[in-house]
Amino acid sequence: METSNYLICPTCTTNTNFMGKYEATYIYSYIIDSNSPGRKNDDFLYPFLYDKRELTNHKQYLECCTCGAKYDLNFNIGNNKGITYNELKDIINSDLAANEIVKS
Ligand SMILES: [Zn+2]
Repeated sequence: METSNYLICPTCTTNTNFMGKYEATYIYSYIIDSNSPGRKNDDFLYPFLYDKRELTNHKQYLECCTCGAKYDLNFNIGNNKGITYNELKDIINSDLAANEIVKS
């Protein structure tokens, strides 16, 4: 039996595409020197020329391209070996089930 290559969104029940999203908040720190806003920068505080970077908040999720529903997940499960299609299916279906339990 052949299976579809697309995930079905439980919210809009459409055979659709999803986008994997990773939201993150970082604090970039720059050591101030005598002639610039940071010892690695000349004119600006560039986000790629920092002295220290701290991850303060992050969230990964799948977003339905049709209705915008979001399903929380961690793309790096299993020792950072990625995530399979079947794992994605289980996650979006279990996330919807969890949300329905909260609503009732
Ligand atoms: Zn949807």
